[in-house]
Amino acid sequence: MAKHVVMFSSGAGSWAAARRVADQHGTEDLHLVFSDVKGDNPSPHAGEDQDNYRFLRQAAWDIGAPLVWLNEGRDVWKVFEDNRFLGNTRLANCSKFLKQQPARAWLEENCDPADTTVYVGIDWSESHRLPAIERGYAPYKALAPLCDPPYLDKDDILEDLRQRGIKPPRLYEMGFAHANCGGFCVRSGQAQFKRLLEKMPERYAYHEQKEQNLRTFLGKDIAILRNRKGGTTKPLTLREFREQLQADQINVDPYDIGGCGCFVEEENAA
Ligand code: SF4
Repeated sequence: MAKHVVMFSSGAGSWAAARRVADQHGTEDLHLVFSDVKGDNPSPHAGEDQDNYRFLRQAAWDIGAPLVWLNEGRDVWKVFEDNRFLGNTRLANCSKFLKQQPARAWLEENCDPADTTVYVGIDWSESHRLPAIERGYAPYKALAPLCDPPYLDKDDILEDLRQRGIKPPRLYEMGFAHANCGGFCVRSGQAQFKRLLEKMPERYAYHEQKEQNLRTFLGKDIAILRNRKGGTTKPLTLREFREQLQADQINVDPYDIGGCGCFVEEENAA
């Protein structure tokens, strides 16, 4: 029998993708795979936002398929420390070690490529990522149901959720474009970090300190963000970025959101 596996991220897009798969193929051999990035870190700022964990359970219950909950054991900062590399918008080693590899290991242990299809939650606006997704999941067949019509935007999906009685993750209401990693993602742009500082200053402070600790640990001038002033590119720490924002010394491009490529990019971080 054909097996269907949805990479379930705790965001609205993967719920919508799973909804389509369930409507089309049923739930008899459907599995929702969630890779938790919290590890064993008890901090409320590690892993997903608390409300994402609520959404995750509710969304899986709505789909009616088993939720496979993976946890590699580390959080993103432990990966950066162990790997001696701070993930950033170009290379997110956290995604590779905490999401892609555990999910891949589960697939290889539990699913035969001959009869398994893997689904990811990207939509039509990200369809340029499909070739990388297909390469990344080979020899498994990989599909992105939201790249097919009827085309939905995020507001359509959030409305669908509400109509089914499911409250979307609170991060969307707070204006975050992506709900992954509690509104903190190393792939984010300056606009998303500005929002994190405004909406969740404690979480921003947590990651600001973690970045400082890693800089000290590695003894390197590294940062998630980049300062591109004056035609040169230099690391811009979360501390510097906050100080510049508070002193009104930086203009943030409101479209510099960035994104999360968890599950959908090929990562080559060592
Ligand atoms: S959401 Fe961002 S920070 Fe979190 S694991 Fe994925 S790439 Fe890394």
